[in-house]
Amino acid sequence: RDMARKLAAGNWKMNGLRASLAEARALADMFPAPTVGVLLCPPATLIAPMADILKGSKVRIGGQDCHAKPSGAHTGDISAAALVDAGADYVILGHSERRADHGETDHTVAEKTLAAFMAGLAPVVCVGETLAQREGGETLDVIRHQLAGSLPDACDLDTLVIAYEPVWAIGTGKVPTLDQIAEVHNDMRATLIARFGTGAEAIPLLYGGSVKPSNAAEIFATSNVDGALVGGASLKAADFAGIVSALQ
Ligand code: PEP
Repeated sequence: RDMARKLAAGNWKMNGLRASLAEARALADMFPAPTVGVLLCPPATLIAPMADILKGSKVRIGGQDCHAKPSGAHTGDISAAALVDAGADYVILGHSERRADHGETDHTVAEKTLAAFMAGLAPVVCVGETLAQREGGETLDVIRHQLAGSLPDACDLDTLVIAYEPVWAIGTGKVPTLDQIAEVHNDMRATLIARFGTGAEAIPLLYGGSVKPSNAAEIFATSNVDGALVGGASLKAADFAGIVSALQ
């Protein structure tokens, strides 16, 4: 695996304009030689200008979605190849906001994941239970089911990244206990090894949901947590730097 095993990934969601690229540059300047992977996923219109402003830096760039098809009549959508062309190395797929806002199913996510591999993008495939599912004791079943359906059989284990993001923890300030995070991450590791073999031991498993500089270190010390997917706290270089530092 030539991609980073430890990864601090920022998801800007539908936030940020060209002026926000100064935050990306500031982050890159704070980490000229990071010992972990550092990734920013801005809105699609900012990928190419971010690639320009980050030229020569170690900060990688990702998209927030791609289409399952390589090209064609899909107005408003973006192909995996177009993300690569703009300067992306990664793409977030199956984020709970895409699943909710755009009705993405596990099957759609699996098709998109395959498209990402074909284009040479590293997919960051997101899974996570709702609050009702957690309270109903269904969390591990839900995560196993989402992993089974959202990953194609032909997975490139050298580039695949998984993010566990409990829906109720995203943007809410609520975080599972460390035991709850460990339970899911250990189960995901076992599930991935059972399906893909020992090559799955090195797949980065990110936690996402209200990660901040103040809680990052304890989350990163948790079993089978290899990094984080960060929303709100990735928008400002000063905040995200605290999270990158905690991972290093
Ligand atoms: C996310 O967008 O994936 C996320 C985890 O958001 P936040 O860090 O804001 O909870």
